[in-house]
Amino acid sequence: MVGDVAVGGGAPITVQSMTVTKTADHEATLQQIYALAAAGADIVRCTCNEPEAAEGLARIVPRSPVPIVADIHHQYRRALEALEAGVHCLRLNPGNIRNPEHIKLVAREAKDRNVPIRIGVNGGSLHPDLYKKYGDKVTPEAMVESALQEIAYFDDVGFDLIKISVKASSVPLMIEAYRQLAEVTDHPLHLGVTEAGPPPIGTLKATAGMATLLAEGIGDTIRYSLTADPVEEARAGRQLLETLGLRERKNVDLIACPSCGRAEVDVFTIAQDAMTAFGERKIPLQVAVMGCVVNGPGEARDADLGIAAGNKRGHLFVKGQNVMVVPEDEMVDTLIEWAEFIHEHGAEAALDRAVATKDAAKRAADEDRDRNLDVRGDDANASEAVIAEIRRSAN
Ligand code: SF4
Repeated sequence: MVGDVAVGGGAPITVQSMTVTKTADHEATLQQIYALAAAGADIVRCTCNEPEAAEGLARIVPRSPVPIVADIHHQYRRALEALEAGVHCLRLNPGNIRNPEHIKLVAREAKDRNVPIRIGVNGGSLHPDLYKKYGDKVTPEAMVESALQEIAYFDDVGFDLIKISVKASSVPLMIEAYRQLAEVTDHPLHLGVTEAGPPPIGTLKATAGMATLLAEGIGDTIRYSLTADPVEEARAGRQLLETLGLRERKNVDLIACPSCGRAEVDVFTIAQDAMTAFGERKIPLQVAVMGCVVNGPGEARDADLGIAAGNKRGHLFVKGQNVMVVPEDEMVDTLIEWAEFIHEHGAEAALDRAVATKDAAKRAADEDRDRNLDVRGDDANASEAVIAEIRRSAN
């Protein structure tokens, strides 16, 4: 348990993020913790790098909406102060606190308080002896050995409330390190690609590493380490778990076609506008934005709700059934309004609501479909003409 959040042992995978404020500034830090919790963080980590930070934690912990982890770097005294402040978990980096007696002292104090510790091995700050032993390189084996050494110190004092991470900025390296670690320990694992960088590439790297491991059943908590507002980290973490079906959906799942020669609107703009309009609304539905009424409703028939563009108008459908037609500039607002209705009353009620409009909506959709096929033909992307040209030049 990290506070009241269960970790490991079949508990739901949880999302962590980290504040970037000075922990000593407890008001600013609490404000950020609330923002992170609202964006999907289940657990938040704050740095405890100076005595004033520990004092800040003493003020933050009782008022935080989520459990707090204190991040300790070089000084074991900060760990003792953070425990005194009432934190729910410590994070220690074995590459930074190198005196086994200090580590054991912290473990004993944590044990007395029933507070777990994360052993946070980091590829970038591996102990020099291990670095040397593995040929002046950071290898998965070196990272796992570092974690096991640390676990041994904790075993010495009978402390086993441990969670482990072996993060690296290289995605293949962290994947392999976690795989090897999962083979040799049953302790819960915290996943992350460290120093992933700014979005979108940072998000992509972190997703590649963490999703691969989660799909293999490895990992109990996750953190996106992005060079960005930490709210983005929390949001990305939550979205990843929802996308993989590892957490119950709380947010909208917006699907959209990639657009093509058949599109009758600017799908990119409408999908983006819809995403912005849904914003932080907690509507756990799948909503589709499709560029044409020829293929859109069919391809998105499993969505709870969708809209497909016709001739300067949008065809709204619920569970694949046409329900109404709206002018093009009302497509996004209509989606939001119907999504809220379905969220509150259910899809059946939405279909009942459309009883007076659905026949006309179906006829209008068929009209626009036929018109699109007339104007753009069966080969809207002109692929056949291009292929003919390729064949001509090949001869
Ligand atoms: S055929 Fe229609 S729904 Fe499919 S990608 Fe093209 S515009 Fe989008």
